[in-house]
Amino acid sequence: MQFAELVATYDKLAATTKRLEMRQILAELFQRLPPDEIAEAVYLSQGLLRPEFEGIELGVAGQLARRALADALGIPEEKVAQHVRQSGDLGTTAAELAAGGPSGGEGAGRTSTVREVYAALLAIATASGDGSQKKKIELLAEVLRGAGPSEAKYLTRLVLGQLRLGVGTQTILDSLADAFAPGDKAARLPIENAYNVSSDLGLVATSLAKDGLPGLQGIHLQVGRPIRPMLAERSPDLVDVLKRMDGGAALEYKYDGLRIQAHIPATGPAKLFSRRLEEMSAQFPELIEELPKVITTRPAIVEGECVSVSPETGELQPFQEISRRRGRKYDLERMQAEVPVRLFLFDVLLAGDEESAELDFPARRHRLEKILAPTDRVQLATQRVVASVEEATAFFDESIADGCEGVMAKSLAAGSRYRAGARGFWWIKYKREYTISLADSIDGVVVGAFHGRGRRAGAFGAFLLATYNRQSDLYETFCKAGSGFDDAQLAEMPKRLERFRSPESPKNVSSSIVPDQWFRPGLVLEVRGAELSLSAIHRAAFGAVRPGAGFALRFPRFTGNFREDKGPEEATTADELVKLYTSQVRHHAVEGPGDAG
Ligand code: AMP
Repeated sequence: MQFAELVATYDKLAATTKRLEMRQILAELFQRLPPDEIAEAVYLSQGLLRPEFEGIELGVAGQLARRALADALGIPEEKVAQHVRQSGDLGTTAAELAAGGPSGGEGAGRTSTVREVYAALLAIATASGDGSQKKKIELLAEVLRGAGPSEAKYLTRLVLGQLRLGVGTQTILDSLADAFAPGDKAARLPIENAYNVSSDLGLVATSLAKDGLPGLQGIHLQVGRPIRPMLAERSPDLVDVLKRMDGGAALEYKYDGLRIQAHIPATGPAKLFSRRLEEMSAQFPELIEELPKVITTRPAIVEGECVSVSPETGELQPFQEISRRRGRKYDLERMQAEVPVRLFLFDVLLAGDEESAELDFPARRHRLEKILAPTDRVQLATQRVVASVEEATAFFDESIADGCEGVMAKSLAAGSRYRAGARGFWWIKYKREYTISLADSIDGVVVGAFHGRGRRAGAFGAFLLATYNRQSDLYETFCKAGSGFDDAQLAEMPKRLERFRSPESPKNVSSSIVPDQWFRPGLVLEVRGAELSLSAIHRAAFGAVRPGAGFALRFPRFTGNFREDKGPEEATTADELVKLYTSQVRHHAVEGPGDAG
């Protein structure tokens, strides 16, 4: 097909905002295109050259495009710049200047095909290294030379990454169905499925154009090509979760990190994709190294959540920490030490030559357990099969206490296959929001300490803190705090605590956690945290709000204040915690359940 013909379609698309019309225009285009050119046309209409996951970006600088346009038209660059200042858009300028150019808007009689233009754009996008700027200008000038006004306009917008025809994935899928299975309403589903499995609209279009609907059967999971992730619905409470799951489900910790889809070939390096299917392999070299060692059956495609762990205490950190590693290209070694990560795997889609997306969830989990030899860095997501709201609540509390943001309930029923790209009630997320920072700080009494790890090896790395319960005269734990201390403060902790050392759990301390070293209540530290949550593990104000649960402070952080002005009995009390918790619950009610995903 001539590029001019494709461009005429773009003009029609640009002239309408009606989805139905766009769909028709595209369907006609797809029918006219030869099967071996349709993929290129599909990518181009979305302003792409390759499927998004390959990360090949069009998008040259405006200055470069101006130079190329000037060269192509044989006019000074300043003339182009001047015109852009008036038109405000290089695409418009290209069209108008081309219309008045040597060819008078007819092109130089030298017409380009879609294939030729595509090849040139790909060469422009992938040119790199020394002299690549010059090369890009030459390549672009070459395709612009002799282009008619509309061609020049769209070429310019394409290379600038500013095509914006408003053609979304769903519209393309609709148009493909109209073009290759007209009148067949049932055709839309297999077309969408093929896209969800391959994430590649060009591939889907080519298969359809070549062999119609049966052509889609040739599209399978492939290592190196991400599958669109299965998504979860949400639920307001655990009672509702269990009801929707027919009374029983597998609950998993909902880790607060980055979703990772790992592709591990039989040989060669693994690839990692984000939830949005961007490749993230470069950011996590430690996972690239570890995955082939721990996944015993290859090739494999597995999914999990990657979470940052505190280098000092080994505890899970909130999302903000791991987000420091996203998009990182430099200082990778330092970042690996500062923000170490752990990957918790929760699904498997391919192992050996067996695809498992069609298996029900229990069978997938079973397979995942079989192909994983876990290490500290790569583990299985913590899971428990529950059959009652009580069991679910206890598991939820454990998850929060372990630094997670809630639970993911997964259906065990027949039909619980992996639904690529779909959000449904086969997976239900339930989490507590903690975006509201706890209004007040808490004065906690040190009752224990834990040996440090990593940089803190040989010293204490974290401390077990308690509040004071006036009624029972007990010090009840509410958190393990390891953040917020600078090196000097950590170094002086043993000295400050020395006189409170105790060989066993002091009688007035209530704790279900056993620290490496106990201390009698004496030293008071001021901490801040994200929120108070109910916890089956901590003992503060135990049973005050819910039987069998105390309060835990999530993401505690030492403020730097040693409250030397306070004795342990002046620390925050259990009653005060209850008040803080209730005020926080009211906050939640006002804010409603937000969701960052
Ligand atoms: P959604 O908001 O629908 O994307 O679902 C929540 C997100 O939670 C997923 O995309 C994962 O990134 C993350 N997640 C954390 N833990 C799990 C888990 N055990 N199973 C599935 N997803 C999890």
